[in-house]
Amino acid sequence: MRSSCQKTVLVTGGAGFLGSHLCDRLLRDGRKVISLDNFHTGSRLNHRHQVSNPDFELIEADVADRLPDLRVDEIYHLACPASPPHYQESPVTTLRTNLLGTFNVLDLAMRTGARALLASTSEVYGDPLVHPQREDYWGNVNSFGERACYDEGKRAAEALFHAHAAEKGVDTRIARIFNTYGPRMQPEDGRVVSNFVVEALQGQPITIYGDGSQTRSFCYVDDLIEGFVRLMESDVRTPVNLGNPGEFSVTELAAMVVAMTGSQSSISHLPLPSDDPRRRRPDISKAERLLDWRPTISLEAGLGPTITYFREIVSDQSSGDRSTTQRVT
Ligand code: NAD
Ligand code: UDP
Repeated sequence: MRSSCQKTVLVTGGAGFLGSHLCDRLLRDGRKVISLDNFHTGSRLNHRHQVSNPDFELIEADVADRLPDLRVDEIYHLACPASPPHYQESPVTTLRTNLLGTFNVLDLAMRTGARALLASTSEVYGDPLVHPQREDYWGNVNSFGERACYDEGKRAAEALFHAHAAEKGVDTRIARIFNTYGPRMQPEDGRVVSNFVVEALQGQPITIYGDGSQTRSFCYVDDLIEGFVRLMESDVRTPVNLGNPGEFSVTELAAMVVAMTGSQSSISHLPLPSDDPRRRRPDISKAERLLDWRPTISLEAGLGPTITYFREIVSDQSSGDRSTTQRVT
């Protein structure tokens, strides 16, 4: 613990979608915040409104390289591309980020005595054979497939957290995040909510992969960030699911997006990517019991501000205004 009572918090991946919202929340809570990011999938624009804040510092660095000797009280480790097309672009880079990056974060946590929280994922359950997914389910993951760099990378990151807690006494937390969406996702991110909303707003066909019967459970970003902070502040050292248990098929999501945007878009189908999980829904009873946390924002309520955010980007793009192609919301 530092001598000043103001905590200093490192957020790896702070320029990304979740990271930049987390930085906002931590600054609002009176923390000093250091964002460390290499802008692989994140954007400097996500920090545009934070850079003039004296409590905020941005370090451009790859988490997989040796980290600077920072003195911090807490580390939220988010650095890693989260969208399948991005993490599959270079599987080796994704594994390097998850393996070396996580080693470096834990090494820094040891040196500085910081508590470290890992942004893990529902992907550790793979294509689950148990539904809904509880934290004690060990998963059904293909170590030799397209998603392995991410799924196995995150599983290894969890194992690294566990090993450093057991052997080196690092104070660790693990959040297993289920599909989260909201403003500040990149329009080219490639995940389903951003793809569908952008396609609907542009009047392009909505591209459903497979027959659209696969399900996901969508959590709005504000709910997720609240869960992050509660977990960091708790004494829960075992993995905790954070997500919204409302479960929707991809076809249902497409219909909601079309209705809420007032779009004339048709539906088109592309092949289902390999190893795409058939069903996903979190059992959040552990988070409810131990963190007194549950999501409060329905999919319909969260899609509203998400559509508003993308509507501005799409209208700027069509008017050719590149300086504002991404707004800070
Ligand atoms: P994102 O792609 O918007 O953010 C990831 C951030 O990490 C980006 O700013 C990127 O530039 C940065 N980054 C990537 N590799 C890096 C490296 N080697 N060094 C430094 N920075 C690096 O994704 P997101 O949705 O904000 O996800 C954040 C974290 O949460 C990720 O670890 C992701 O696996 C996890 N997660 C997110 C979701 C979700 O639905 N949003 C679900 C499960 C897990
Ligand atoms: N998906 C889709 N169209 C898209 C993007 C994704 O039908 O344009 C599907 C994808 O095949 C998956 C679901 O939507 O079944 C969620 O995909 P996403 O990449 O958002 O998250 P993940 O598969 O990692 O949960």
